[in-house]
Amino acid sequence: MVGGLAVSAGRFLDALACLAGRRCQLCAAVLDDPRDHPLCPECASKLEPRRGGHCPLCGTCYADPCSPAYLCLTCRMSPPPWSGLAFHGPYDGPLKELVHRHKFGHEHGLGRLLSFLARQAWTLRGLGRPDVIVPVPMLPGHVLRRGFNQSAELARMLGRTMSLRPLTHALVKTRETRTQSSLGRAARRGNVAGAFAASTEIRGRHILIVDDVMTTGATMTACVRACLEAGAAKVDVFVLARAL
Ligand SMILES: [Zn+2]
Ligand SMILES: [Zn+2]
Repeated sequence: MVGGLAVSAGRFLDALACLAGRRCQLCAAVLDDPRDHPLCPECASKLEPRRGGHCPLCGTCYADPCSPAYLCLTCRMSPPPWSGLAFHGPYDGPLKELVHRHKFGHEHGLGRLLSFLARQAWTLRGLGRPDVIVPVPMLPGHVLRRGFNQSAELARMLGRTMSLRPLTHALVKTRETRTQSSLGRAARRGNVAGAFAASTEIRGRHILIVDDVMTTGATMTACVRACLEAGAAKVDVFVLARAL
């Protein structure tokens, strides 16, 4: 009887901790001080932003994360059209799990954690504050089918930390494209080339384009080119994760 009461009390306290957001948002361990960090120390160490061993322009990650960041051969030969990149880390492990849970599991409760990770990555890369923040757009029909655009959600989260409201209409998708994951590198470029258009209200402004994951960079390249064609002064890009 006493044991049963203890179990019930434990469950009640667990439920209260969940409601109060006092649990690690990755492993659900109870946090000592949830105001400091949305993760327990163990999960925080697994979700450290990438500090080295990558290309600072395209985010390609090299084998040794402790080596300095340096430009990859592709970026030296043919640099992407954006000025700077901020990303949290490779699309792997717990970061991959979180992006999946947000995108496909519709776990909007992950907002606090994703905001924290986005801000952490943004601060680390030291790119200047943009004038305008825009998400990689989806066609309206696709947003309706999925229920939300995960890039727009991320742009809202990151924008809130900079006191910037995303201009979701400033960059639009103008035509249907095939799913990029079904295509090779060259075909991806052709698939999305010219599929985006930007409003002239971004003319002369410093733009930040936000997406959740970048794989070959074909979609981001098409978005950045649309912004530059519309007269943007400078375009930086932000992705939470860079696919390996
Ligand atoms: Zn944890
Ligand atoms: Zn590179």
